[in-house]
Amino acid sequence: MHTMKKRIALWALACSLLMAGCAAEIPDRGSTPPAADGAAGEAQSIELFAMDTVMSLTAYGSHAQAGLSAAQQEIERLDALFSISSPTGDVLPLNQNHTGVVSADTKTLLTRALDLAASTGGAFDCTIAPIMEAWGFTTGEYRVPPADELRALLPLVDHRQVQLAGDTVTLPDGAALDLGGIAKGFTSSRVMEVFAEQGVESGIISLGGNVQTLGCKPDGSRWRVGIQDPHDTEELFAIVEVADEAVITSGGYQRYFEQDGVRYHHIIDPHTGEPAQSGLCSVTIVSRDGTLADGLSTALFVMGLERATDYWRAHVEGFDMVLMDEAGDVYITPGLDGRLTLQNGGAATVLG
Ligand code: AMP
Ligand code: MG
Repeated sequence: MHTMKKRIALWALACSLLMAGCAAEIPDRGSTPPAADGAAGEAQSIELFAMDTVMSLTAYGSHAQAGLSAAQQEIERLDALFSISSPTGDVLPLNQNHTGVVSADTKTLLTRALDLAASTGGAFDCTIAPIMEAWGFTTGEYRVPPADELRALLPLVDHRQVQLAGDTVTLPDGAALDLGGIAKGFTSSRVMEVFAEQGVESGIISLGGNVQTLGCKPDGSRWRVGIQDPHDTEELFAIVEVADEAVITSGGYQRYFEQDGVRYHHIIDPHTGEPAQSGLCSVTIVSRDGTLADGLSTALFVMGLERATDYWRAHVEGFDMVLMDEAGDVYITPGLDGRLTLQNGGAATVLG
């Protein structure tokens, strides 16, 4: 399983270069590194492993190197803060002690996570940690928990019981936070801010396949971002053109284990404690707000086509989406009409 995760992560990295649609502009890692002060339009890239995945960052222009260094530091800082297993962060001590003072970033992220939980009727719930652990997703020791074990754990999954007073978070006994469904989007949004602070005007990053873009490509055209095909993860099923937006995908194919011929994936329906079976196999959110895009990709995967569409109708300003159902049919919101191409030459159904 570890190997498979690694393979997927590496694929995501390779794909992100492809996805950027600017692979030709990215220097070959085997070649001479670009000069520290690259000319405007010249790409500089780094890779790192953080948040349990491979990340690739590309920035353009004369401030690229400064932007990349600052971004790497910020990613490593946030990784430690939000990680469910880092003793120096906010989440692990809180989960162990059930109460604790958290940093401003954790407070912001937790507030966003709780808001999203409320607005999705609990389809997104950052108190999912005890269930993730029961399935072995936290440790890598995968198992199918007995039904009575899940039943006993389910009352612990309830975002409404998380108390946030000032900077102090308190959880009920036995409850625990897992920000894994939203932390990468928060981080990619932050990297865009860090790039801008450092004078970078054009860049693209992939945090394990979750892409966010700053500005346009240096030639003024939009970034072309690929969406992985759930049925053949070596392939893309669609390309979407974006500028200044995040493109974040959730899919059961991204992390799973198999037992007795059944596949169990890592996106859990908080109401059942089981891997969500909503009829969707891939949910991509396109939004200027990376935190929203990440949280929503997880939530709408749980909610399924109809509820996801209702949610979008109620929040139409905030995001666009690409949904693929198990039959392989693709649905998009009108904001993507004309900037999404299906690789099979077919047409997506435009939701209204
Ligand atoms: P993503 O890849 O963004 O869809 O996030 C999946 C991760 O989010 C899982 O590995 C868990 O850490 C966490 N997670 C799983 N199910 C949920 C859920 N229903 N609500 C919030 N977080 C979840
Ligand atoms: Mg997510």
